[in-house]
Amino acid sequence: MQDIADLYQAVILDHNRRPRNFGEMENPDRVAVGDNPVCGDHYTVFLQMDGDRIREITFHGAGCAISKASASVMTSMLKGKTLAEIKALYSDFHHLVTSGEIDEGNLSDLSAFAGVHQFPARIKCATLSWHAALNAAERPGEEPEPVTTE
Ligand code: ZN
Repeated sequence: MQDIADLYQAVILDHNRRPRNFGEMENPDRVAVGDNPVCGDHYTVFLQMDGDRIREITFHGAGCAISKASASVMTSMLKGKTLAEIKALYSDFHHLVTSGEIDEGNLSDLSAFAGVHQFPARIKCATLSWHAALNAAERPGEEPEPVTTE
């Protein structure tokens, strides 16, 4: 078994330290909350939609390095994507974090999370914000929930 330090690769450290698209959105079309009580990760994902395409996406909240970095990488990738494209990306990402298999022909910052598969408890940390984003993108008209701030 690899050391847990291997899990925290440069990409993850960087996104954890300087999360992209981090903050509450002023006028979101859709909002969803992701909660992982086992680890204490709690995030809100904010979306502005253009039909079924994400125009703007931000996230806010707190949690472990894996969950925060994953949300940061996710928001960077999902901007401008359609719901179908989001689902395909999530399917690839879910396969990556559960199998550890990297698609060499399709490398991205998501590949940094391949090591997560060795730590099953962390898979939820990595996929939490994706679930929230998919929920928000798929279900219009949900009432925004209060955002937890530190
Ligand atoms: Zn976590």
